[in-house]
Order: sequence, then structure tokens, then C-alpha cells
Amino acid sequence: MLREVSSPERGVVLLDRESSVIYANERAARVLGKSLADLVGCRLPDAIARRPENEDPERVVEEVLENMLGTGSTVHRYSAPVRGADGAVAGRVEVYSDITARRELEKEIVERNSELAELNKQLQDAQEQLIQSERLRTLGEMAAGVAHDINNVLGIILGNAQLARRKIEQDHAAIKCIDAIELAARDAAETVRRLKEIGKPIGATEHQPVDLSEIARDVVSSAIPAWEQSRPDGSPKIAVKTRFEPDCIVMGNAAELREALANILLNAAQSMESGGVMDVATSRDSGAAELTVRDTGVGMSEETRDRLFDPFFTTRGAEGTGLGMSMVYAIATRHRARLIVKSEEGKGTAVTMRFPVSS
Ligand code: ADP
Ligand code: MG
Repeated sequence: MLREVSSPERGVVLLDRESSVIYANERAARVLGKSLADLVGCRLPDAIARRPENEDPERVVEEVLENMLGTGSTVHRYSAPVRGADGAVAGRVEVYSDITARRELEKEIVERNSELAELNKQLQDAQEQLIQSERLRTLGEMAAGVAHDINNVLGIILGNAQLARRKIEQDHAAIKCIDAIELAARDAAETVRRLKEIGKPIGATEHQPVDLSEIARDVVSSAIPAWEQSRPDGSPKIAVKTRFEPDCIVMGNAAELREALANILLNAAQSMESGGVMDVATSRDSGAAELTVRDTGVGMSEETRDRLFDPFFTTRGAEGTGLGMSMVYAIATRHRARLIVKSEEGKGTAVTMRFPVSS
């Protein structure tokens, strides 16, 4: 009846009602991994294990058979009933296509796509970081400019306060006023010092090999007793855990790094007014040394996280200066360190400084 269904791409098989092969073309034999002579006459479900037995004779089936011949090949199978003149099902026609190559291509496209998406994301991140660092640099320069002007004024205030002190009796009632002026001026000088830190350009400070673990140990042991003391009696406890790894040597300025860490620790402590756990750790991998401070405090809202490094941004009202994290950012930048902040409202915050190290 049929001679050759010439289809170089697809294997065509005609089955009788018992699923025995009445006809198969060359391509079908190749796709099914048999010789044409073996294929014709055999029951197809016996010949190929992946061809299901007992299919509903009325149904049109379309499916993909993975690893059909055990050689990793993927085959698409189309199977439809063939009816005789009386309308009853007389057998089936099945079309087999080897789609292994297409599948691999598809997989490759999917992989390429996700690679592209990843690259795109990296590009976006880099752009955002660039915008952020450019903005902060401008703000830093502004801050440094303001600091210079205020410094001059503060010098005049302090100088005159000291002159006034010398000119009046030591038990004069105005002495208290002069004390207040001096104290306020010194506080302002501290703010100015921070502003100047923020405005310092890259390369302004000398860098030497320093041990992050040593710095962390120092700051923890000096900072923690200090703020424990400053908290009102009976305040809920903050438990401090430390984990310091050896070999966390980075090129840096120890004084700046101590200052940065002290600020991060202070923020962590302030976020845990009702107690919690603070975790200070250093670690080292092949490309970087890290310093991480985790707290179980109040965490940050999205807005706070976005503006965290802006000079003068604070959520602590008159108590905050909003200069702590800007200074940390400036110090990290001068050390070519990445500053990574993860925070969840109500759960806590983790601040990591990641320093590049050359092996
Ligand atoms: P300040 O401490 O003077 O407010 P900072 O620059 O140190 O300024 O911090 C800015 C703001 O970032 C804080 O007011 C606070 O809202 C938020 N913040 C910083 N660190 C943390 C932290 N560990 N947990 C929760 N919020 C934090
Ligand atoms: Mg702070």
C-alpha cells in the first residue's frame, strides 16, 4: 500500500490495532534505533521501552520522550488514530522527530538569557553605585567646605571665651556661661571633625598593613564598657558575641578603621534599646577580608536604608547627627572596601565592610 513516506526529518510509523508496525520509513528506524527489517512486523511497545502500552485508541497523543534510546537523545512523538472506511479505529500513525539538537539549543538560549539578565543586573547595580558614590562625593565636598568655614568661626568663639575667662574673677557668675560656651564649641568642633573626615579625598590618609581582628578586638573591648556605662541602670542587656579569624590583614589606616567600627557598634547598640544580641566577626576568603557587625535590633525601613549614608540623615531626632554612617562610608571608600548593609525591620541589621586583599 505505502512505499516510502519520504521525510528526511521525521520518522513515520503505521501501526495496526495491536500496535504492530505495518510500515515504517528509514528515518523512523534511525530515530528508534532499530534496523528497518527489525522494526517492521514487531509490536512497537515491545520494541521500544519508552513507547507506552495500552494507550486509549481514540486519543491523539503528543509527548516528549527524554533519553529515549538511553543515549541522551530527546524524541518528540506524535500519535493519532487512523480510521477505516467504517469510521472505526483501524490503527495509528506515529511520527517521531529527534529534537535533541533543538533541545540543546533551547537550553543554551535559556542559559544565555539568564547570563544576560545577570549581567544586566550587575550593570544596573554598578550604575546605582556610581550615582550613589558620585552624590556622596559631592555631599562630602560640600561638608568639607562648610567644615572649613565653621572651624574658623569656632576658633574665634573658643579664643574669645578663653580671653573672657581670664578677664573675670574665678568665682564670677558668668564663669558658668563661659563653660557652657566652651563645651558647646568643643561639641561643634567634634561635628566639624567628622565633616572633614567625610570630605577627605581618596589617598588622603596613609595605609599600612593592619589586622582587622586586632582592631575589632580593641574597639569591642573599649567601646562596649563605655556605652554599657552610659545606659541607664537596669537597661536590658545586650549580649556581645565575637568571632575573630586570623590572617585578616588589609592595607588600611588603623585610626580610621577603629572610628568606623566604633560608629557601626554604636548604631547597633542604639538599635537594641530593649536588649538583644550583637555579633562582631572577622573572616577571610581568597579575595577579601571582612568585618561584620550583626544586631537583633529594630532594623531599618526601606527609606532609611536608601538614605543611610547621606550626611545629616538621622531618624534619632536631636540626639542623632546623621554623620556616623556617612563617615563609615567615606572611610570604606578610602579603603576601597565595599560596604554591605542588610537590614529587616523588626529583625535586625548586618553591616559588612569587605576589604580587597592581594594574596
Ligand atoms: P545617627 O546615628 O546619628 O542617627 P548614622 O549615620 O550613624 O546617624 O545613622 C543614620 C540612621 O541609620 C540612624 O538614625 C538609624 O535610623 C539608621 N541606622 C544605622 N545603623 C542602624 C542599625 N544598626 N540598626 C537600625 N538602624 C540603623
Ligand atoms: Mg550613628
